[in-house]
Amino acid sequence: MRFHGSLSAAMASSIAMCRLHLRGSLSKCFKKVDSCFQRKFGTSTAATKTDAPNKKYKIDSKDGNKSFYTVQEEKIEQAERSVLISCPAKTNEKKFLSYLSRHGDINKCFFYESYGTYAVVEFSNKESLTSLHEGTAIPSINHEATVPFKSRLLSLRNAGPVDMSNGQSAPPCQPQTTIHINDLIQRLSKEASIDQQISSLTEMYQLTEENVCLRFLVCSLLKDIAAAYFPECTIRPFGSSVNGFGKLGCDLDMFLDLDGISGRDLKRPKAGLSLEYQTKRSASERAGTQSILSVIGECVDQFGPGCVGVQKILQARCPLVRFAHQPSGFQCDLTANNRVAMKSSELLYLYGGLDRRVRCLVFSVRCWARAHSITSSIPGAWISNFSLTVMVLFFLQRRTIPILPTLDHLKELAGPLDKSVIEGNDCTFVSDFTKIGLQDNTETLEQLLQEFFEFYGTFAFNRMSINIRKGREQNKPEMSPLHIQNPFEPALNVSKNVNGTQLERFVALCRESAWMLQQREFNVPHVGSATRNHAPWGLAALLMPSVSQVAGVKGRKKRKREPASERIKGLLESLKNSEVKS
Ligand code: ATP
Ligand code: MG
Repeated sequence: MRFHGSLSAAMASSIAMCRLHLRGSLSKCFKKVDSCFQRKFGTSTAATKTDAPNKKYKIDSKDGNKSFYTVQEEKIEQAERSVLISCPAKTNEKKFLSYLSRHGDINKCFFYESYGTYAVVEFSNKESLTSLHEGTAIPSINHEATVPFKSRLLSLRNAGPVDMSNGQSAPPCQPQTTIHINDLIQRLSKEASIDQQISSLTEMYQLTEENVCLRFLVCSLLKDIAAAYFPECTIRPFGSSVNGFGKLGCDLDMFLDLDGISGRDLKRPKAGLSLEYQTKRSASERAGTQSILSVIGECVDQFGPGCVGVQKILQARCPLVRFAHQPSGFQCDLTANNRVAMKSSELLYLYGGLDRRVRCLVFSVRCWARAHSITSSIPGAWISNFSLTVMVLFFLQRRTIPILPTLDHLKELAGPLDKSVIEGNDCTFVSDFTKIGLQDNTETLEQLLQEFFEFYGTFAFNRMSINIRKGREQNKPEMSPLHIQNPFEPALNVSKNVNGTQLERFVALCRESAWMLQQREFNVPHVGSATRNHAPWGLAALLMPSVSQVAGVKGRKKRKREPASERIKGLLESLKNSEVKS
């Protein structure tokens, strides 16, 4: 395994420090190993199975080779035929379905927990909803007035004598959140190879089909509110809810799409009479977006069942309404006029569907970054998940045999229907997966993870910009510490918010992780034979928190060194303990 000179030098200081801390038998752990001999290349068939030479990129998504918009339209239509029902905890599924099926055939139903038990019910026909609404009452609450808004968020009431539980326990519930990081580390430590760890993390973290349905349903419920003003509008999910990189529990980014009503595509006759709507003018497109969001935000706040903590953040670069949707447990961001972000979501969906290794690597890197507070759920000077994803895509374009094509190449493959220009920016790229040629790269997930850390552990961030349109680094146009060119708005830096300290932390962790993956102590499973105690190894070891993170950061000089040495020291101690126990 290749180890870059500067990376070796950087790690040498960490190694020296660890030696100091760990004399005796464990000091042998730090001898450089012949990684080619000791690492288990090809232990998993995950990557190699996927890629065969000289064929088109293999599609690897639940939706096969359907384009982003085909999937969107299908799921939006399904959501329009669905309702969300709060149920008593011990609802008998059979009786529940038989009660509802009086309104029509039911296509799909699943239960989940979020401040109570909920069921998502999808009817086969939209007409069933009319019948359902007719048989649903507005609650009468003593001494309180209710807003008689007939939404598709309902409650199942049982005034008896029907026994809805039928002596049964609660219906099986679909998980809507990920497992705790400690449980994840334990589960991964039991895997037999790093490739399997990466695959298993992806399996555990990715959005389930049910969770995606719920996301589309929440958008559809919101659309019912917005439709009071714009009956033909659509509310679409974008970002990680639909781009293939969403983790259970991620926020729900929504886009109020008014294009269908704007009449942009309507052809006016060249001669003769025609009608047009009288409309109110706004000072700018931004001002118009702000007033639309302000009014809809107000409506969501006043009348939206289950919508709480509504905040109108209208002065942001991209104005939005933020709120929590309690029945689903989603943190929601509603934006309007955000078509470029929709395009980015489509691009990421395409990249993620080209090769299964793309999503696996993104999930692992995102999880690793979150475990070390490189990313955060609150906005700040940190690297965002979106930036990290673009960094992984760029890395995969930069392989000797590229795994991903450049955005410019995807543009060359575009057909006439793919043409898209948004606010003067050319956002054209191919949407048909089958037109994209496959490269013969057979690197394993383990190799890719290792190389990712080495790549960014030595990347010339001070001079170079990351550019997935060209698929190669470019000179930085401005001096932000981290420069990632926005794929569709070239003048913008996706990671403009990131400060020098955060970038340094990222680079230091990349170096430390690259080094750890080269050490036998970390890159092969440790199974205590007597106790079946699985000490963290491989990806699991990389997710272990660093001591510095818990203790807080003190001096600038210390900050650079402590994370590597202290964390490695802690990990080696835990290995030693598990050896002693076994
Ligand atoms: P997650 O919510 O899981 O952290 P995400 O991809 O949804 O990941 P968000 O921050 O919620 O990230 O942003 C939603 C979408 O908005 C992104 O997927 C991307 O398309 C767009 N976006 C976010 N930040 C930027 C940015 N700095 N520059 C350009 N587009 C951005
Ligand atoms: Mg998001």
